[in-house]
Amino acid sequence: MIYDNHGRPITYLRLAVTDRCNLRCFYCMPEVGVKYLHKSKLLTYEEMLRTVSVLSELGVSKVRITGGEPFVRHNMIDFMYQLSEIEGITELNITTNGILTGQYIRQMKEMGIRSVNLSLDTLDKKRFFEIARRDEFDKVYETLFQLLDAGFEVKVNAVVMDGQNTQDIIPLTELTKDHKVSIRFIEEMPFNGEGSHYPKLNWNSTRILAEIRSKYPDLQKLVDAPNSTSYNYQIPNYQGNIGIIAAFSRTFCGTCNRIRLTATGDLKTCLYDDGVLNIRDLLRNGISDEELKNTFINVFKQRPKDGFEAERNRKSIITESMTTIGG
Ligand code: SAM
Repeated sequence: MIYDNHGRPITYLRLAVTDRCNLRCFYCMPEVGVKYLHKSKLLTYEEMLRTVSVLSELGVSKVRITGGEPFVRHNMIDFMYQLSEIEGITELNITTNGILTGQYIRQMKEMGIRSVNLSLDTLDKKRFFEIARRDEFDKVYETLFQLLDAGFEVKVNAVVMDGQNTQDIIPLTELTKDHKVSIRFIEEMPFNGEGSHYPKLNWNSTRILAEIRSKYPDLQKLVDAPNSTSYNYQIPNYQGNIGIIAAFSRTFCGTCNRIRLTATGDLKTCLYDDGVLNIRDLLRNGISDEELKNTFINVFKQRPKDGFEAERNRKSIITESMTTIGG
């Protein structure tokens, strides 16, 4: 197990496998003018597998595949099988928008995936179109129930956007009544490809919680898992639960065990940093596994304390899109 300079173990990799997406969500990407990277700039599957193997020898045991939309990359499911077979990787999960996901449910079960994060910001078809700028609500909603029926632990990620979907907080919460699903409300961050949408975040975790409590005064706090990014709650006698993720307020950095690898191979030791080094270039310049291991050990010893320090250390302000980072 490897620890960073603040005594936090590094055990979890979020791996962005593509920068491409089949939605254009307001909080993530501009509606038009998105410039995708040339394939040669992306890590190949072989490069990703090698990097994950090296990281697993350092103690990384959990990998979440993300993007962009993972399933838009060609042969993704074969890559996932290979990833699931790496020794030391005991937990493999995926974050997906659900559009292409349904057809791979059997294979995902077969390779041992237990948990799926599904992005769904509203239960209203028209609002879905306004937010995601693609008419895909029915498909995503169907995938949600396919995943639940197949026995996956499903966490629905809903970004709370001022003036866009705050009226969905209660209907989404109500889904936990009859379904064993986690609905996770995420503070909107400025990773939308354009820069901050608001001078001040009006819908922070405190306000989201207050909104839920106003309708469900007997909301109960659950014990959060170690390293959890969400503060978790349950309504008595409801089957599912609610999570609130203070992604912008950054209140969970003290237990952060996560690193990120972008689709172009930038290693991020904090979501808010601007990339500490590029793994693709090191691999293509012939670095050995031993040297790569030592490189990781070195950068893990220079991790910022929290997302605020990481943001202060950036060379430029945040204008990148979450689709290039991997949420
Ligand atoms: N395409 C997949 C999906 O839609 O779930 C995976 C990639 S997406 C970038 C991963 C997660 O990042 C999604 O759950 C999305 O809600 C979240 N996300 C994207 N932009 C965000 C932002 N500006 N603020 C907060 N969360 C964001």
